[in-house]
Amino acid sequence: MKTPCIAACKNNDGICSGCHRTMDEIVNWRHITDDEREEAINKLNGTLSSHTCPSCQEPAQCDISQGKETCWCFSIEKRDTSALPNNSTCLCRKCLSKLPTA
Ligand SMILES: [Zn+2]
Repeated sequence: MKTPCIAACKNNDGICSGCHRTMDEIVNWRHITDDEREEAINKLNGTLSSHTCPSCQEPAQCDISQGKETCWCFSIEKRDTSALPNNSTCLCRKCLSKLPTA
């Protein structure tokens, strides 16, 4: 089974500090199809992205902007984004997980 796990798993308030999957994604990983895993890995490594992270300029992925009703960021502990400009787009997983929890 393909996995983005790099054996550096640490639950950083809802998101893994090693592979940057949410805890929900990690728990569901073995229940999704190979195609879904492939897509998830491509989103994690930036092959599939919806925009550029306003903080690090790396590819970032927002599920909402791709027509989904929820986004991966809903399932992690809410982060304090008050230091960001109001109109900024979503951070990438790395940058969002580095912010303190709200
Ligand atoms: Zn970033």
